[in-house]
Amino acid sequence: MSSRLTVIAGPTAVGKGTVVAHILAHHPEIKLSVSATTRQPRPGEVDGKNYFFLTHENFDQLIEAGDMLEYATVHGTNKYGTPKQPIIDALARNEQIILEIDIQGARQVKAAMPDAKLIFIAPPSWEELVRRLTGRGTESAEEQAQRLVTAREELAAQSEFDYVVINDEVARCASEVVDLIQA
Ligand code: 5GP
Repeated sequence: MSSRLTVIAGPTAVGKGTVVAHILAHHPEIKLSVSATTRQPRPGEVDGKNYFFLTHENFDQLIEAGDMLEYATVHGTNKYGTPKQPIIDALARNEQIILEIDIQGARQVKAAMPDAKLIFIAPPSWEELVRRLTGRGTESAEEQAQRLVTAREELAAQSEFDYVVINDEVARCASEVVDLIQA
């Protein structure tokens, strides 16, 4: 049953969010797990839709209660995690569910649910990744530098994944990912 669970990961700014949004818009049968995070909402982000925005204290309570399928500290600052119960419920309903999470989280999901499919979204090149990260303009220079350090480590982990899909063009990448999800 857990083969209906797909983990999508990849380096920061590779465009995972755009690919996932494209998939959700065109495939209503595929559902996205809403993560919890301790980071502040960005302009336009909605609590319960983009993330569950939690205090560090509330986040730690969920970990202690065993309510997180996986969690990780990302970019050296904030915690992000997947609430466990919605995943169990979705799998029980036989839904196709995707998790858009970081590499550390992907490893934890694979350990907990070996049948989960792990898909790595890769950039066409390192130069293109840097261009996308600096062009986005949502992070300070300091945050961008930290995210590039993380991105280098993340790129090195792609061999641990079941599939690698290059995000050269959003619609093409999304369609390849959907084929893998539904294979
Ligand atoms: P952002 O702050 O840009 O929304 O996300 C930063 C990073 O956190 C992204 O690489 C994203 O994949 C990761 N992330 C988001 N949700 C989760 C989660 O539930 N668990 C883990 N491990 N990582 C997450």
